[in-house]
Amino acid sequence: MNILAFGPNGSGKGTQGAIVKEKHGLDHIESGAIFREHIKGGTELGMKAKAFIESGDLVPDEITIPMVLETLAKSKEKGWLLDGFPRSLAQAEALNTALNESGMALDYILEIELDRDIAKERIMGRRLCANNNNHPNHIAFDAIKPVEKDGELVCRVCGGELSARADDQDEDAISKRHDIYYDETTGTMAAVNYFKNTDAEVITVDGTKGIKEISEEIMNKIS
Ligand code: AMP
Repeated sequence: MNILAFGPNGSGKGTQGAIVKEKHGLDHIESGAIFREHIKGGTELGMKAKAFIESGDLVPDEITIPMVLETLAKSKEKGWLLDGFPRSLAQAEALNTALNESGMALDYILEIELDRDIAKERIMGRRLCANNNNHPNHIAFDAIKPVEKDGELVCRVCGGELSARADDQDEDAISKRHDIYYDETTGTMAAVNYFKNTDAEVITVDGTKGIKEISEEIMNKIS
């Protein structure tokens, strides 16, 4: 099964993606997380991508597209949930061509809708676990609130160290990321609409609902 997950930064797409991945045994491919791994590892790709990420700009397509398509190809047998890509119409077209060429079908488009002001608030409260990118933590949501240990907030799943992403605390970077997301001409919403015109089944959920409610809604629709 192959799924494309869309939603503005802060909509809970990563949290829901992790739940769906677990339930259906898929690879969870997050373009942003792949970049962060490269930056952490000090690779050449990471060094090229760093400044774009910090400012909330898109990393250029000549770096991003091959990186994501190579990762997808490795998950062909297992199936994947792709999160954070495509983020533009050009990336959507490149992805569609690659899927057709490799014989991979797209089964579902998951779209989490959320107003940008709410999304912004949510971005600023989320925390990253040093041990596992799929351990959701958010200071404002009881269901995924970090726990306190020795006066520090740590990951609620594994007790790992938590950090806030620099681009999540920078209002200009957030605003840029949302401008790109809500752009229906060439941005991410153009990519969403592009894939809505394919044979994949579209699942649209209201991102203001609770994490559990949303995941149940998604689970009921994905078989
Ligand atoms: P995310 O973790 O999805 O919020 O992504 C963090 C950052 O990584 C974005 O703000 C971009 O700078 C970069 N990035 C992630 N995915 C893409 C993509 N599909 N195209 C270009 N840049 C991306």
